[in-house]
Amino acid sequence: MATSPVSIPNTLAAVQDHTRVFQDLVYVYPVISRRSRGLSIGINLNPDKRCNFDCVYCEVDRRTPGRAETVNLPQLREELAWLVRYALEGGLATQPKFNEVPEMTRVVRDIAFSGDGEPTMVPNFDECVRVAIEVKQEFHLDDTKLVLITDSAGLDKLTVKRGLELMDGSRGEFWCKLDAGTEPYYRRVNRSNVKFERILANLLETARARPIIIQTLFLKIDGTPMPAAELEAYCGRLKDLTAGGAWIHEVHAYTIARPTPEPWATRLTAVELETIAAEVRRRTGLTVQTFD
Ligand code: SF4
Repeated sequence: MATSPVSIPNTLAAVQDHTRVFQDLVYVYPVISRRSRGLSIGINLNPDKRCNFDCVYCEVDRRTPGRAETVNLPQLREELAWLVRYALEGGLATQPKFNEVPEMTRVVRDIAFSGDGEPTMVPNFDECVRVAIEVKQEFHLDDTKLVLITDSAGLDKLTVKRGLELMDGSRGEFWCKLDAGTEPYYRRVNRSNVKFERILANLLETARARPIIIQTLFLKIDGTPMPAAELEAYCGRLKDLTAGGAWIHEVHAYTIARPTPEPWATRLTAVELETIAAEVRRRTGLTVQTFD
């Protein structure tokens, strides 16, 4: 049974500061990620801030306008290669943001499709993956994972499926969101027009082909954690997926880390999160890691 990783405390400034803007780069940004256990280079495919979810806990500031509306592949390649080289040569280590963890900035643990929206919404996701793989190869980053952090709504698109297959051959890892066990709770937390059934079907199809990590944000709504019946339904969904042939490598359970626009959506305490995680382990038999 796994628990929170111990090596990277969440009090570090580099962990707290997950800004997706670094210098004048449009598509890439460096963060120290506890879940990545070190330096993660994010690829923001949604500088325009487009998303098909509207999560109550979303930290993306949508009051200020987005930037580029399409992904300029040559620019993405150039920026990614520049940032990788900068990290490997020790440039990031000299930045004030990383002065508590300079040694961590010289190893690129992963390159992650994440950012200000949902990465699978871009029309050419597979081409973006290809660019990341080429840069990995250029710098011989054989141990660097290629991570997709997704709300799971677009996993059934043809270009996305092609991208996933490319990732499979390049240490791909898939972190797929599932925040609810029922459609009403899903609508309350994720506020999406995408049907909950489609999310579940996408998870099943994706995880039949490769292992996935389920990432679930647990929170309080109006001061109340996920109700027991909802948690039971959530565990039931996980068991249904497993019984249907899904390979769920593990579950990442986390909570709100930074201020959200909705004051009634608040974080759990570490004890509350761990209590929920223990219940998920007990009901599903899955490995659950917590990140409070
Ligand atoms: S899926 Fe991510 S980017 Fe989209 S609204 Fe939710 S938290 Fe924000």
